[in-house]
Amino acid sequence: MNRVYNFSAGPSTLPLPVLEKAQREFVCYGDAGMSVTEMSHRSAMFEDIIARAEADLRTLMAIPENYKVLFLQGGASMQFAQVPLNLLSAYKTGKADYINSGNFANLAIKEASRFGDIKVVASSREDNYTHIPDWDEKEFRPDADYFYICQNNTIYGTRFTKLPDTGKVPLVADMSSCILSEPTDVSKYGLILAGAQKNVAPAGVTIVIIREDLIGHALDIAPVMLKYETMANAGSMYNTPPCFGIYMAGLTFEWLLANGGLTEMKKYNEKKAAVLYEYLDQSKLFKNPVRKCDRSIMNVTFVTGDADLDKKFCKEAEAAGFVNIKGHRTVGGMRASIYNAMPIEGVEKLVQFMDRFEKENA
Ligand SMILES: *Cc1c(COP(=O)(O)O)cnc(C)c1O
Repeated sequence: MNRVYNFSAGPSTLPLPVLEKAQREFVCYGDAGMSVTEMSHRSAMFEDIIARAEADLRTLMAIPENYKVLFLQGGASMQFAQVPLNLLSAYKTGKADYINSGNFANLAIKEASRFGDIKVVASSREDNYTHIPDWDEKEFRPDADYFYICQNNTIYGTRFTKLPDTGKVPLVADMSSCILSEPTDVSKYGLILAGAQKNVAPAGVTIVIIREDLIGHALDIAPVMLKYETMANAGSMYNTPPCFGIYMAGLTFEWLLANGGLTEMKKYNEKKAAVLYEYLDQSKLFKNPVRKCDRSIMNVTFVTGDADLDKKFCKEAEAAGFVNIKGHRTVGGMRASIYNAMPIEGVEKLVQFMDRFEKENA
């Protein structure tokens, strides 16, 4: 069975060495005589797995001492509620500012609006989210409890290349589709959240990196399970954590460290993205609809402008071993998600295939 080039937006391709190591260790982890999926989360062996995963993530992202790392469940979507439930009362104003840069930001806004006074300070919704909204800092509320962005917009293929200056207001970022793709200055954020299934591990783990002073002020209505304090005090093990996902995340962290960390990853990702964008910019058939300065290096969207031709392309691409290249159901067209684990050969071969398709359909 040949492995395909899987351009899925998530769950998405994982590094082959990670999958192979997990396979080797699956039935019997170390000398445990059992699989990680069968092991008590209170065992010394699992304690070691989660401690190493956290330590390696801290090394990779240079996470400062005054930040906690949490391994949670519920996906990024649960964070849309968990963030306001915990942070809206942090400074007791119940206000938060959001930038609406895409569908996931919009969902986060809707959810947060159930709990507090939410202001959308900038939006690109009217333009079908084809760019990061331009913002005016005069719109930001200096007494907001937090300021929220979705840093990489998975569906639309846009990303923030500079961060809004929020002053003392803690910046919260959904990094589900860009975490670990390049170095991040964690100290600029109050909270970083990311579902694991885009760039880290199987679905089921959500990573939250939170500055310690933001923990412990949850709204009274917050369920115990949704208070960051609960999980922070319990080392993410108030209840049974997503053990296997944490183990897999740990393998990915190890793989990243062995391959030069995030500085190398950034170079590699930029190179991969450039191969695609350079081709798209000269193509007469395919277009990238995104404002150039906002282009994502993780999710590259493109269209022919003809829905039938898009469909034909996706079908032929699939048959040629380039799978899951169809755009999100809400926007159509195509999208190549080229996360850390996508090798550059996959991107180069895709471009060759696109070029051939273009000639055949000219
Ligand atoms: C995929 C994704 C989500 C939703 O993640 P779930 O884990 O399915 O809840 C949210 N935000 C971004 C940026 C995403 O890419």
